[in-house]
Amino acid sequence: MAYTIHGKTGDWELVIGLETHIEVTSNSKLFSGASADYNPSVPANTQVSFVDAAMPGMLPVLNEYCVEQAIRMGLGLNAEISKRSKFARKQYFYPDLPQGYQISQPAEEPPIVGRGHIEIIGDDGNPKKILIERAHLEQDAGKLKHDAHPTKSMADYNRTGVALLEIVTFLDTKNPGNNSFITSPDEAEKYLRQIREIARSLGVSNANMEEGSMRADVNVSVRRVGAAEFGTRTETKNMVSFKFIKTAIEYEARRQIEIIENGGTVSQDTMHYNQDSGTTTVMRSKEDALDYRYFPDPDLLPLIIEDDLIERIRATLPELPSVRRARYMSELGLSEYDAARLTESVQISNWFESAVGDKSVRAKPIANWMISELFAHPENFVLDESIQRDESIRIIAPSDLAELVDMISENEINGKMAKDIFVKMLDGETGSPKQIADKFGLKQMSDTGAIVSAVDDVIAKNASQVEQYKSGKVGLIGFFVGAVMKSTGGAANPELVNKILKEKLG
Ligand code: ADP
Ligand code: MG
Repeated sequence: MAYTIHGKTGDWELVIGLETHIEVTSNSKLFSGASADYNPSVPANTQVSFVDAAMPGMLPVLNEYCVEQAIRMGLGLNAEISKRSKFARKQYFYPDLPQGYQISQPAEEPPIVGRGHIEIIGDDGNPKKILIERAHLEQDAGKLKHDAHPTKSMADYNRTGVALLEIVTFLDTKNPGNNSFITSPDEAEKYLRQIREIARSLGVSNANMEEGSMRADVNVSVRRVGAAEFGTRTETKNMVSFKFIKTAIEYEARRQIEIIENGGTVSQDTMHYNQDSGTTTVMRSKEDALDYRYFPDPDLLPLIIEDDLIERIRATLPELPSVRRARYMSELGLSEYDAARLTESVQISNWFESAVGDKSVRAKPIANWMISELFAHPENFVLDESIQRDESIRIIAPSDLAELVDMISENEINGKMAKDIFVKMLDGETGSPKQIADKFGLKQMSDTGAIVSAVDDVIAKNASQVEQYKSGKVGLIGFFVGAVMKSTGGAANPELVNKILKEKLG
């Protein structure tokens, strides 16, 4: 179902655009040789070169490795890599920025990474493309500390000049029928998780929101269901948690709906999210919008990227989630939906592949168990250590699920028993599925003789149903199977019961 918000004058849909910043993994900064390691254990202002400190006459030198990282991420986003892009100065004054400007790639010029897309599972359960407009390289700013001294604010410039890659989603305003953009809080989270997964699997960034190596600006607008035009958006800056992002989107959408329904108009403001109340408030209005006075950085030449560099990088890429997805469909026969669910994170894919091992016949049943049983209880999976740290997490070993699935296919247990064993495993019962089965006497009756006598018994006791079945009410087969299962305490092999019943009933 498409996500909508019910207002007092009708239903509204959301339009969401994300600008995601990921900190690029690299030994040194984007334009200087200083270490890019700014983590809190590093003493303040010990990783600051003269370039980072903006000493007069110091010249930036572009870090080639950061460029390669951007290309790598671009390929992971299925994006075009620009052969030629430029750097410009974005001017603003703030004490965390010694230069007085940030070197970035302005929106008017081609950025290093152009149009691309990733795929998520949309709210309707189907795979959905999310278009990417661009990704560009820019410098990060330093960090201000307001609580280190009673009367002074302190600045730590270790992070100043570290490379960021900003990834911006695309909204096709010329083509209103195209809905390849984020339309709900859940989709926003899924998109960000995908970005994170891609960045991590490529080694481009840790993309860890808690540590600040992934941050997002969240653009939200609303429109009446079915409207062709987009509404006016607001932008909530610098969001650093999935939970806050989802709350902010929903709050902001409701705020805008209320304004419009009360006859007002939304103004294109920059918002601030208040963590404690879960609300957004205006940080600056459009009239106060900063004029960054972008101009080309005279110290930096245009960035020219040769085809062989792109091809050399492409050849070293590990298997991306999208490629894994395609392989699960073509080699393991999974549905598009199952394949997408199992490639939402690298850990999940690895878990799945480890359970399947070299027996591809296990793939489908294992996918079913994972999706309908494990995912139904998110506490069973370590999806995101940064937001689920406090939860008690129980993980079934992949080899145990494999064993359980094999026991079913070898007719040692039936589906009902497997479920019992599975629940016991979740509840912390120790031992392998086989040991649990032995301990609780869960063993399928596959002895034909015993089943035949149970069938005979049921047929003898239900003469009128037998009559009806024979006169064409074949739907009654379920009744007979149920009766035999019941009389055998659920232990009979249902397939065998079915087969024997059909033989006997003619
Ligand atoms: P800026 O750089 O001024 O923040 P951009 O035009 O680059 O603006 O857009 C930033 C993000 O906002 C993009 O992801 C874009 O898709 C999104 N966006 C643009 N218009 C809207 C809208 N009407 N509703 C929601 N998001 C929007
Ligand atoms: Mg912006």
